[in-house]
Amino acid sequence: MELGAFKTAVDDWLDEHARVLVPSFEGIGTLDEQMMQLRKVMRLTYDAGFMRMGWPERVGGLGGSNLLRAYLGEVLTARDLVEPGIYSMPEVLAPTMIDYAPEALAAAMVPRLLRGEEIWCQGFSEPGTGSNLASLACRAIRDGDSWRINGQKVWTSLAQYAQRCVLLTRTGTPESAHRGITALFVDMDAAGITVRPIETMHGAREFCEVFFDDVLVPGDRVLGEVDRGWSIAMDLLPYERSTALWHRASYLQRRLVQLLDVVPAGTLDPTAVGEATQLLWAFRARSRATQRRLAAGETLGAETSVDKVLVATAEQTVFDLVADGLGAAVAIGDDPVSRRWRAEFLYSRAATIYGGSAEVQRNIIARRLLDLGADR
Ligand SMILES: Cc1cc2nc3c(=O)[nH]c(=O)nc-3n(C[C@H](O)[C@H](O)[C@H](O)COP(=O)(O)OP(=O)(O)OC[C@H]3O[C@@H](n4cnc5c(N)ncnc54)[C@H](O)[C@@H]3O)c2cc1C
Repeated sequence: MELGAFKTAVDDWLDEHARVLVPSFEGIGTLDEQMMQLRKVMRLTYDAGFMRMGWPERVGGLGGSNLLRAYLGEVLTARDLVEPGIYSMPEVLAPTMIDYAPEALAAAMVPRLLRGEEIWCQGFSEPGTGSNLASLACRAIRDGDSWRINGQKVWTSLAQYAQRCVLLTRTGTPESAHRGITALFVDMDAAGITVRPIETMHGAREFCEVFFDDVLVPGDRVLGEVDRGWSIAMDLLPYERSTALWHRASYLQRRLVQLLDVVPAGTLDPTAVGEATQLLWAFRARSRATQRRLAAGETLGAETSVDKVLVATAEQTVFDLVADGLGAAVAIGDDPVSRRWRAEFLYSRAATIYGGSAEVQRNIIARRLLDLGADR
């Protein structure tokens, strides 16, 4: 289906089903409520065919360009039907499954993710291993036809809801760095996995510590090749910085407009409003080009670090404006609307950390895009 026709079909369908799609909670809701809402919207849009558009037929999709997925997430977010961070997880993890999992596994699993029947999580970071991912220590050793895993992950978003995890493990020697990493697709109900949610400063238990004690994973759950998991991680991270961020910009745009609607006239510095608007549109222009490059079949890489820096800067500038404009409500307001602004303001501080910190993105831009060299 062409993008124009898809947009019309989606918009009409959303209008028609507005009453059933709308969240049952006010404000930001609890994370449990958001997850229930996410599952509902994914199931309904999948069954209507829209969620399947833009994904390959071999994993239950209906084919077509990734631009269709970009639009669906954009409009669901713009209508406040889903929270973009949790909605966009398939954009991060499904392409990895499609590219690297055994064909039958991808065909069986991806539809469950797209229909909201399953949640998946991304087990990369560890205590002491974030930016320097190549130092990860969570160990996988061969045990007959299986892999036996011991170690810990941290900051694993939504692990307490997840049925599966794309897990990076150390299969080489501790010194093997990026050469001795293997990616595994792990069932989260396997014996020996303990998940402990961590509360963030915005009051949600969104990410978790995950412990692996002698967890057995079947040998056919290796993604790609043994000891070659680094290339999977490097291929996955640009996805985290492409369509998912396009969806996020749609949410930022909506919140900026809502702020301008409610803030008393004369409260905001017009220059600050102009700056936030300009940053947001600069990001959208950049991300639009990224979506088009994906649609043209290009492989994304280090240049998506620019997208990440731009969106994180825009997000924090928008929510700085929220704090300036709504002051006391953001700081101490106790109604659902104020609680939502406050939670979002606090969460915006994480934008320069998750998906690769701003400093590390700037290093990548300097070294890999501008060729400025490691020591200059
Ligand atoms: C909301 C949220 C959700 C997340 N979800 C997940 C998830 O689902 N799965 C997952 O695996 N991880 C997740 N993470 C973890 C995230 O990927 C890491 O926090 C991030 O990569 C940074 O790693 P770190 O926290 O270990 O910080 P560190 O790498 O220890 O960095 C600490 C500070 O030092 C700076 N720094 C580090 N190295 C350099 C350098 N070479 N040059 C200049 N500055 C440097 C960093 O920019 C940062 O300011 C999440 C994080 C957040 C905040």
